[in-house]
Amino acid sequence: RIVEIETFSAEEDSIERTLRPDAWSEYIGQEQIKKNLSVFIEASKKRQEALDHVLFYGPPGLGKTTLALIVANEMHANIKVTAAPMIEKSGDLAALLTNLEEGDILFIDEIHRLSPAVEEILYSSMEDFRIDIIIGSGPAAQTVKIDLPRFTLIGATTRAGMLSNPLRDRFGMSFRMQFYNPIELAQIISQASLKLNKEILHSAAKEIAKRSRGTPRIALRLLRRVRDFAEVAHENDIGHERTQYALDELGINSHGFDEMDLRLLNLLASANGRAMGLSTIAAALSEDEGTVEDVLEPYLIANGYLERTAKGRKATRNTYEILNLSLPQQDGS
Ligand code: ADP
Repeated sequence: RIVEIETFSAEEDSIERTLRPDAWSEYIGQEQIKKNLSVFIEASKKRQEALDHVLFYGPPGLGKTTLALIVANEMHANIKVTAAPMIEKSGDLAALLTNLEEGDILFIDEIHRLSPAVEEILYSSMEDFRIDIIIGSGPAAQTVKIDLPRFTLIGATTRAGMLSNPLRDRFGMSFRMQFYNPIELAQIISQASLKLNKEILHSAAKEIAKRSRGTPRIALRLLRRVRDFAEVAHENDIGHERTQYALDELGINSHGFDEMDLRLLNLLASANGRAMGLSTIAAALSEDEGTVEDVLEPYLIANGYLERTAKGRKATRNTYEILNLSLPQQDGS
């Protein structure tokens, strides 16, 4: 389950950290983003200026945090990593900002979750590199202006649509993350496997890649599980058969769908050609709407298994085919 993938045990968290690429050469795919970003990084290094603020958006596990760390590395800049839920009050943000040094990078994950009051301080500081802090209350309240060093904000979000316009406008660059194709994922898997001191057969890497929902985090998680199976069987390398066996044991379907995807697709198909609203879907799956919209749907839409219409979500021809169901007689919507 995807939600599980987000909640690593401490051990897995540290493995994920060791597997994280820290240079462009190890960051596979997202070619357009890499190309553009390296131009902007080069240019700002030449001008000896802080990089413009950057926004990365797209589903979880596609490499947004990793990119932020690579940017910091390339800029030879310090990076502070935090997430919006940890910045509760304006004072929390003020403390973060006033502790930055010239050229530092502040990475805020889940940036769409900032409260309006915090967001307001953030966008004035992004634009003017200055914050106004109110000290005291009532008639005696005073506004103190504090100058900030030139810093770079890197924001990451699964929902660009939820950012307020003033905040979105203050990012000089924004990049939409793409799902990875199986060839790229296989490369990521082989590279990570070497870091884990295990050789993986190319065909085995491809097998994992096909079942990873286009997402490196899922691919790496499956790799670790397959490695466990290989280790228990006293195998030095990760072979094709062991991989196939492990993936089957884990119940992962060869189209890369997990159980929740299949439940969603079956639900949509049961509507017989009619569209279904987001709240109905969320209730039927016992998931919250945000997870359905940000985590489940993007992969299915990108691969043509789900369609968003004005009336709601619909199964596509591909959906019926993959579920071995006959197409609805009439388009009911
Ligand atoms: P996000 O911030 O988008 O949720 P992360 O940056 O945390 O995703 O990436 C999840 C994991 O996937 C990282 O630990 C990293 O090792 C791996 N990863 C992501 N993108 C790539 C990539 N392009 N090449 C290699 N590994 C990647």
